[in-house]
Amino acid sequence: MSKYNFYKFFTLYFILFGIAISVLGSFVSYALQVKDINFDMAKKANEIFEIKTDSILKPFIENMDNTVISLVSNNTIKEFLKTRDEHAKNELEQIFLAVSSSQSIITQARLICKDGKELIRVEKDNNNDTNIIVEKSKLQDKSDTYYFQKVSQMKEERLWHSKIDLNIEHGKIEIPYKPTIRLAMPIITNGEFSGMVIVNVLVENLFLAIGKSSAFEHYIVDKENNYILHANDKFSFNKYKNIKRSLNEDFENGLEAKGVYTFALDNILKNEDKATLVFKTKKSYENSLFKKELNTIIIILIANIILSFIVAIYISKTPTNLQAALVKAHEKLNEFASIVDKYVITATTKPDSTILSVSSAFESSSGYTKSELIGKKMNIINNPQQDKKIFLELWSTILKGEVWSGIMKNRTKKGDIYWLEQNVVPTLDKDKKIESFVSVGVDITAKVELERLASIDKLTGAYNRRMIDEFMKKEIFLHVRDSKNLSLIMADIDHFKLVNDTYGHQAGDAVLSDVGRIISSTIRKSDIFGRYGGEEFIVICPNTSSQQALILAQKIREEIENFHFAEVGHKTISLGVATLIANDEVENIIKRADDALYIAKKEGRNRVVLG
Ligand code: GH3
Ligand code: MG
Ligand code: MG
Repeated sequence: MSKYNFYKFFTLYFILFGIAISVLGSFVSYALQVKDINFDMAKKANEIFEIKTDSILKPFIENMDNTVISLVSNNTIKEFLKTRDEHAKNELEQIFLAVSSSQSIITQARLICKDGKELIRVEKDNNNDTNIIVEKSKLQDKSDTYYFQKVSQMKEERLWHSKIDLNIEHGKIEIPYKPTIRLAMPIITNGEFSGMVIVNVLVENLFLAIGKSSAFEHYIVDKENNYILHANDKFSFNKYKNIKRSLNEDFENGLEAKGVYTFALDNILKNEDKATLVFKTKKSYENSLFKKELNTIIIILIANIILSFIVAIYISKTPTNLQAALVKAHEKLNEFASIVDKYVITATTKPDSTILSVSSAFESSSGYTKSELIGKKMNIINNPQQDKKIFLELWSTILKGEVWSGIMKNRTKKGDIYWLEQNVVPTLDKDKKIESFVSVGVDITAKVELERLASIDKLTGAYNRRMIDEFMKKEIFLHVRDSKNLSLIMADIDHFKLVNDTYGHQAGDAVLSDVGRIISSTIRKSDIFGRYGGEEFIVICPNTSSQQALILAQKIREEIENFHFAEVGHKTISLGVATLIANDEVENIIKRADDALYIAKKEGRNRVVLG
């Protein structure tokens, strides 16, 4: 029982506290971990950006800027532009060649005059990858180019960066593609534009260096959302390749979405592209982060379950102990209830006295079984001899909602009398209406019988002298109070001594017993019959006049006269009658009846005399 309950409570608490809290806890820690993952990703993106810009992009641009500055600040340039001296030109060409050769990423380095014509051009020879000085006849007019237009407008010697695009050779995009940036600087003489130096730089390797990481896909988009760099190289420079590729295709939720990180490159590139570097988190990276966090979640979950297991064991013990104590108390109560059931006569009835339940004690005292009683009316145990007044008093009390206490003469199934000292308790419902009656009783049959034996003469079944004296007192009081008639008959068997003498004492006893039975059956129920002395009897007749008493006395006399006593044959009896008069005492009325009896004897016996 208690073990079963332990498991029951344990399961309950384990599910409630353990599993529920674990799941909830895991859910919360999952949310926190996801937040952590997002934080980790953003941190990583920032780190990568810093590293790439500080150690690759910035030094790269700076290096190229310095190259241009070093070319422009050469004194020979200004002199050459002014004099166009061949010697100066040769010197300059050698400088341009040396600078270009020292930087493999420089594809062209040029000096352009103020009209837009190339004066010097050093470029990579496609065949052997070495730098050559282009011969004079192949120099071009660049006055129409956008870079010349821009730089020739500048009023001071400042660096200028072109957009990053694909190199164009003879009006066509050069294949294989050569992503290029041009860095230029005007040469100002006496406040006037007198020419410019421009260097074409291959950014292919730069892009390779900044465009890769294990965590993110890299993109560079310009201010018009064209791709300068795309994770899929096919779409890099899509504008120049005439390939349509919109941002939505790569960033469904735009550049503000979760896992997408943007960084402005404009302050480094300082060109018209106004480029932005975009990092898009690779799924594989996100999953690897999540896997790492998943381990934490699983550890938390297991720890939670183990903890809940211990807590559930601990908590389950308390209700189990409590339950055990309750069961014990319940058993005690049941034990007590079974004792009450066995020894206390109880019955519960509906307000109409239909029996709802009875105790085992009720069964044994009434002789009926529970099934014979339940559903029947309570009057099943009523004794017809019971004074009806008692029932009236009982009902009027309990219908008022009060408790009735009293003694009830009942009848068993076999027809025997049994006496109950009862309390009938009405129980009320919440509307104060009688719901049922609970009757609690004690069987006092033995006690009543004992009392009866103490008040009755064994031989004749009549009341003894002591009882008669008590009855006399009580009846005289009641009749005087109510001014009612009360009569008394004294009777004495004639020549009874003779019976004893002739037939023996036992025969005398038999006559006495027969006379007692005859008188009992002749008088009314309300009359009180007693043995007053050896063979003297008395009958108290309440509410009876002297005439009525005379008639009764005559009847008794006749019954005796006509009776044939077994051994003795016929016997007669003499009777004296007296009636209550004002201020009578017990002794007075008895004396008058006695005197009348004496007269009856004297006048020849077997007769009735009114005193
Ligand atoms: P009478 O009354 O007619 O004048 O004559 P009697 O013979 O009845 O006279 P008495 O009243 O003197 O006698 C009563 C006798 O009744 C005396 C006594 O032995 C007898 N007696 C009294 N009690 C008992 C009893 O319990 N059993 C028997 N067998 N005899 C009893
Ligand atoms: Mg006598
Ligand atoms: Mg006598």
